[in-house]
This record gives sequence, structure tokens and C-alpha cells, in this order.
Amino acid sequence: MGRYDGRIAVITGAARGIGFGIATRLAEEGASIAVVDLDESAAAEAAGRLPVVEGAKAVHVAADISGGEAVDAAIAQVVDELGGLHVLVNNAGITRDSLLHKMTEDDWDLVMGVHLKGAFLMARAAQRHFVAQKYGKILTLSSTSALGSRGQVNYSTAKMGVQGFTRTLGIELGRFGINVNAIAPGFITTEMTDDAARRLKLDVEEFRRIRAEGNPVRRVGTPEDVAAAAAFLCSDEASYITGQTLYVDGGGRL
Ligand code: NAP
Repeated sequence: MGRYDGRIAVITGAARGIGFGIATRLAEEGASIAVVDLDESAAAEAAGRLPVVEGAKAVHVAADISGGEAVDAAIAQVVDELGGLHVLVNNAGITRDSLLHKMTEDDWDLVMGVHLKGAFLMARAAQRHFVAQKYGKILTLSSTSALGSRGQVNYSTAKMGVQGFTRTLGIELGRFGINVNAIAPGFITTEMTDDAARRLKLDVEEFRRIRAEGNPVRRVGTPEDVAAAAAFLCSDEASYITGQTLYVDGGGRL
């Protein structure tokens, strides 16, 4: 018996990185998975690689989660193809880093659009199903950058916004059997942090080594580290936990 037997989870940005890690872990524990991502072929390829157990399924949906019509259609497609919905993981994310004086309106709007509007639209579409069945789990990715991060005023603001979003939905949705939590990862080895290394003109391995040295547990994080926490927070073992943000950062949050 897996913790997620019979459960259906939709995970945004799950074609790679942390989202794929969470999708893999939930699939291993019995869930059917919908991989939602921008790029259709990447989403299909990721869904095809998930270790789904017998009787479960993995499907993919190509959608930009910052648009309401696309999100409503994506959730409808998932419910239609998988037969329901129990877990929403708001993981899709982007960065558009620069210091304030160089930051454009587009840099601001794009980051807010994916992290905050995207999470709002996905949660609004999913809660219709969750409230009707009096069961649901919503998990959103925040970040240690929420606590302040030079060159990331857009991203930091969005990631702290995720924490307010989470607390508020925890209060609103608890009576309907819906748990709402967030995970704030520190440095995790994905394309997102590899891109940051390249922007800083650092070798990817060297960047990871520097970040590991400065971390209390002397290593950087992996998608599996985040997935382990996600699998707990979205499970019934965590049903008395809501509105919380769990830092998964090796203790190195500032
Ligand atoms: P990643 O490797 O860059 O993956 C993000 C995925 O999201 C990509 O597949 C991307 O698709 C997709 N995506 C972006 N915009 C989208 C949209 N509008 N609609 C649908 N999908 C979209 O990132 P990651 O490092 O795994 O990060 C996952 C989450 O964790 C993000 O919310 C990030 O902010 C957060 N986080 C990451 C770290 C870290 O150290 N990596 C730390 C703290 C928090 P494309 O490739 O097609 O753009």
C-alpha cells in the first residue's frame, strides 16, 4: 500500500527539476500524475518517464499557468483524463533577476504572473473539485529568497507572497478538508540554479561547491530533498498541518 494509492495529483512545471522530482516521488507512492508544463514535448517525455505503479496513470497537459482560460481548461482535462483530483502542487517558476534600477516592468510582471497569479488560478480551479468532495491538498513552492535576495526583488516578493497566499487559503479552506502548505527550498540543483551560475559567469560545479561550503549541512539540496517533504505535506499524515511554510534548506536560509 502506497500513501498515494488512488490519489490524483497535478503538478505544474513538472517537466524537469523540482516538479519532476515531486511527480516521481508521488508516482512511486501510488499516485496518478498530470504533468503540466509550457513545452508539450518536454511534458510528454517527463510523463512517460514517471515510475507509475500498476493501476495508476501519468498524463501531460501543455499550458501556460499564468492565463485563466488555459488553467481552467488544463484542470478540466486532468479531471476528465484521470477521473478526479486530490492534490495540486504549484511548482512552475521562472526568474528574471536584476537590480531594481535595471528591472523592467516585464521582468516584474512575468515573475508575478507565473508564481502568484499562476498559483492563484490553479488553486481557484482545483478548489471547485476539492470543496465538492471535501478533500484536497494544495502545496506551493516558496523559496528562501522570500527572506531577501539581492537582484531578485520580483522573485523575493512573489515567494513571500506565496507564504501569505498559503496562510490565507489554509484559513479559508480548512473547513472543507483542504490542507494548504508551502515549501521554501534553499539552493537545489536544477536548471534554475545552473542558469544562475551561468549568469554569474561561474562554472556550474564550482557554484554548487561554493554554495555547499556556506551551508550548515555542507551540501546543496536536490529535487529529492524537496520531494520527500512534499510527499509528507500532501499526505494524510499531515492533515493537522495547514497554512505552513516548511524551509527545506539545510539550515542555510540567510
Ligand atoms: P526549473 O528547473 O526552471 O523548472 C521550472 C519548470 O517550470 C520548467 O519546466 C518551466 O518550463 C516551467 N514553467 C515556467 N513557467 C511556466 C508557466 N508559465 N506555465 C507552466 N510551466 C512553466 O525550476 P526548479 O528549480 O525546478 O524550480 C521549481 C520551483 O521551485 C519554482 O517555483 C522555483 O521558484 C522554486 N525554487 C527553486 C529553487 C532552486 O534552487 N532550484 C529554490 C527555491 C525555490 P520551461 O522550461 O518551458 O520554461
